[in-house]
Amino acid sequence: MTIENVVIIGSGPAGSTAALYASRANLCPVVLQGSQPGGQLTTTTDVENFPGYKNGVNGFELVMDLQQQAERFGARYVNHTVQSLKQNEDKTFTLTLDGDNVMEAKTVIVATGASARYLGLPNEDRLKNKGVSACATCDGAFFRDVPIVVVGGGDTAVEEALFLTRFASKVYLVHRRDQLRASKVMADRVLSNDKVEMVWNATVNDVIGENSVTAVELKDTQTGELKQIECGAMFLAIGHVPNTGFLKGIADMDDAGFLILPDKGTSHTTVEGIFAAGDCADHVYRQAIVASGMGCRAAMDAERWLAEQE
Ligand code: FAD
Ligand code: NAP
Repeated sequence: MTIENVVIIGSGPAGSTAALYASRANLCPVVLQGSQPGGQLTTTTDVENFPGYKNGVNGFELVMDLQQQAERFGARYVNHTVQSLKQNEDKTFTLTLDGDNVMEAKTVIVATGASARYLGLPNEDRLKNKGVSACATCDGAFFRDVPIVVVGGGDTAVEEALFLTRFASKVYLVHRRDQLRASKVMADRVLSNDKVEMVWNATVNDVIGENSVTAVELKDTQTGELKQIECGAMFLAIGHVPNTGFLKGIADMDDAGFLILPDKGTSHTTVEGIFAAGDCADHVYRQAIVASGMGCRAAMDAERWLAEQE
């Protein structure tokens, strides 16, 4: 079986930037795209803070630009998801992919990002695709002229709430504290939007509805009082969980599952030959440009590590 120099797991900004650098270093990288080719930015509309796009850029367009730039230098993108990975005695890696496919690699760059977190409510799973969603860009247009509840207080929640004002009769932004976590510019935008009503200090007890969402039940965190808000949909924007499950017991990670990079300033994980980039190893910044920077670093670290082995 052919052994690849570099297998990059993930095709978001981190994976594609790693692919660009690794391909320009003649390492012929393979990029495994997983279930979300292009990564999280494919679920958003405009990205206004990625350097180089002076008028902003659509998220999908941005990741396609990155992919095409890497492909120009020979990076190969394939539609596979990694199920498990093991290190062999000679330090190489065997990756088991979906459909019982197997790939061998000298180095691996993990750029698997993170997935939307759900609340674990009794009726949440049953009502997914029936009004419960974690992606306003994907599902917002299905809920026109009805009230919509958005849960969360970070940039995503604010962005989702603002986006949903295009369709909803009203947006309730439910946050468990009395202050938004979102950046000031985003917070100011949502707080001054007439169509958005803030519901502070509230958690969601359950989502209600038979065949579609009709209401959410909220609990006031200070008084314990329960109340229902009628709505046609509930969008969750309460953060993401790193997609690192397949590395459990192999590479060290923190309690939340973010990969630990012990050599500060490098992309080396606790396993020699495995490097990490982007949101799967970054619980602080989680921004596309940071993910891209980390992807560059991982490709350069992998290149140097390969050179040292020879
Ligand atoms: P991701 O983009 O999450 O990509 C992960 C990739 O790994 C995907 O291709 C996935 O399919 C793949 N993968 C996962 N598991 C496997 C596996 N087992 N096998 C193979 N492949 C796998 N940041 C900004 O800077 N500006 C913004 O305006 C902005 N807007 C955002 C809007 C929303 C709604 C969200 C959710 C995030 C936004 N962000 C924004 C954050 C930004 O999207 C992330 O920081 C960035 O996408 C992280 O890039 P990444 O490459 O690390 O991971
Ligand atoms: P985040 O910043 O981690 O915020 C998650 C929010 O959900 C927090 O307000 C948190 O509350 C709340 N939350 C978490 N668990 C909860 C639970 N179980 N019940 C109720 N509420 C819960 O996540 P994010 O908003 O998805 O942002 C992720 C990263 O992407 C950030 O770095 C962000 O800046 C970036 N991003 C940037 C943009 C942009 O620049 N335009 C847009 C979107 C995202 P607490 O505040 O109480 O912890």
